[in-house]
Amino acid sequence: MNFHWTNMADALHKASMPFAAIIASSLLTLNPAIAGSVSRIDSNDSQIIVSFDGVVEGASTFSLMGPDRIAIDVKGGIAGRGGRAMGIVKSVRQGQYDSNTARIVFDLDRPAVITGGGFSADGKSLTLSLKSSGAYPFITSRKSFLPPAQFRAEPPKNSYSVKVPLGKPQDTVTLPKISGPKNSNRPLVVIDAGHGGHDPGTVSPHGGKYEKNVVLAIAKAVRDQLLASGRVRVALTRDTDKFLVLEERYGIARRLDADLFISIHADAAGNEAASGATVYTLSEVASDREAAKLAARENRANIINGINLGGANQEVSSILIDLTQRETLNVSADFAKLLIREGERAIKFRTNPHRFASLVVLKAPDTPSVLFESGYLTNKDDVALLISRSGQGKVARGIANAVEAHFARKLAQR
Ligand code: ZN
Repeated sequence: MNFHWTNMADALHKASMPFAAIIASSLLTLNPAIAGSVSRIDSNDSQIIVSFDGVVEGASTFSLMGPDRIAIDVKGGIAGRGGRAMGIVKSVRQGQYDSNTARIVFDLDRPAVITGGGFSADGKSLTLSLKSSGAYPFITSRKSFLPPAQFRAEPPKNSYSVKVPLGKPQDTVTLPKISGPKNSNRPLVVIDAGHGGHDPGTVSPHGGKYEKNVVLAIAKAVRDQLLASGRVRVALTRDTDKFLVLEERYGIARRLDADLFISIHADAAGNEAASGATVYTLSEVASDREAAKLAARENRANIINGINLGGANQEVSSILIDLTQRETLNVSADFAKLLIREGERAIKFRTNPHRFASLVVLKAPDTPSVLFESGYLTNKDDVALLISRSGQGKVARGIANAVEAHFARKLAQR
């Protein structure tokens, strides 16, 4: 399995970005307002039709085998859910690959390739012709499709941009110090405070608090609570206001050989009544539209002016998760359930608090990982709780209880 993925990533890998260059960076130069949500998908033995509620930037397709699939990446697309499958197409899945790309995956009954296709005159639907085929290389050449010229995005204008020098993403970020028992047999938990540095995360409309500061305070409270028990070792990906790309965050956990990775964030919603905590684990398909939007928002931390500082997202590994990750995903999901059960007395959760999304920070293939959205910075009561010492202590206690129960259970299973 792994062999196929590696080869595929190589085949699709684009020239790496010139990171050393000075990159324009400004919030004033936002992406052109070209975006469309996937509103409908139909498929049968000879055709795939994807409809959008707006005009997208373009689409590209590729085929995979074992299992046989066709994938479509829609630039400027927002993923919806599902789609109608018929004939050779067994099922249709959608997910937000990154903040600007929706990926649609068609699971096939037998091998097939895209032989051609194009956008409709209004730019709002893409029709692809499908042909079943016998043998073909596990990656067929990528085909690209553009909407009619009048709908194409203008290249972004840089006239308002501010130039800031950006360094390379560091593979060699200094490893943080590990606190707690000196015994390296003790489980190691890596706590990741989201955002930091130039990336504030969500800014609360109530008092202007930055997510990066709120979650750092919570992360430290969790560390202190865990250390008080003396049972586990703890490291923080950051204990100051510094920026790390998402891959560096789980990279730290992997390099330290961590047993558990918990990324801490605070949520935002248009509806100010939304409140409570959510636990996310990794999935190739988001559990709902809101989860897809959250993933798009959190994954954006890596992107400045369209330049992906993480880089790994360029490869195809994103939402199609390798089988080697299944076990890790199961442990992550078990921990998420435990966190909700053990944390319930201290933490107020939303309804259906365990959700799934394609979050880059959860992509370590071998470290069980969850992303904990501690509450909503757009909700008055949640903000008051999350910025108070007592509220942070409560959240920390809930997480610490779950962590201890998790490792106690693992020990018992041995
Ligand atoms: Zn966040």
